[in-house]
Amino acid sequence: MKCPMAESGETHAGTPSPTCSGRNLVVLSGPSGSGKTTVGSALPGRMDILISTSATTRRPRPGETDGTDYCFLTPEEFKKRAAEGRFVEWAEVFGHSYGTPVEELERAAKQGKRLLLEIDVQGGIQIKKKFPEALAILLLPPDDRSLRQRLSRRGTESPADAERRFAKAREEVRMAREARVYDVEVVNDRLADTIDQLVTLIQTRRKQA
Ligand code: ADP
Ligand code: 5GP
Repeated sequence: MKCPMAESGETHAGTPSPTCSGRNLVVLSGPSGSGKTTVGSALPGRMDILISTSATTRRPRPGETDGTDYCFLTPEEFKKRAAEGRFVEWAEVFGHSYGTPVEELERAAKQGKRLLLEIDVQGGIQIKKKFPEALAILLLPPDDRSLRQRLSRRGTESPADAERRFAKAREEVRMAREARVYDVEVVNDRLADTIDQLVTLIQTRRKQA
């Protein structure tokens, strides 16, 4: 397994060491296809921020690398790590497990950098419960038509899977709004504007914290 993970016992009960602070955490959630990966990948070029590498039981898409895009785990290995408390949050999304390894938070804390978590709303809610000071951003597509187009043009899922993701979008946004844990909503219309907005939001938050 290429993914760097802490030795068993180095972490406990999903709780990162006290050096981890929610002030350095940025949660980016939004429906599949809203643009989280595209927008998120532009941020390290604009500020001191690391992108968290999640673990997942879904299969790699063509071009995805183990340890960079995700740590691809078997369901058994994921379950074992979850039971050992090695995820700070985890959730079932589209029939697969996804989780944020505790050591991603520790990696950022050691380097004194912010950490971007591109995670679903269930995960965002868990993070905000543990770290109320984290900045949680909900990314939205401009409208249903654009979301459907972006999902199908991305071409990474079968048409049926893309449709399933589209159908889940409204529920995800409703869940996020009901939970009232997202600090701000950003509409991802023109990409360059969205990136600028996120940079400003994150930098402003840092000054306030
Ligand atoms: P997510 O990570 O939220 O599932 P992606 O970042 O993979 O979404 O974006 C879905 C698709 O939409 C990709 O093909 C991406 O290139 C495209 N996309 C993202 N943002 C925009 C934008 N502002 N305008 C047009 N296309 C976009
Ligand atoms: P994808 O399969 O398109 O890469 O991701 C599917 C969904 O899982 C997206 O909404 C994505 O944000 C979410 N996701 C990715 N990593 C994590 C994680 O570590 N935790 C949670 N809760 N969701 C995640």
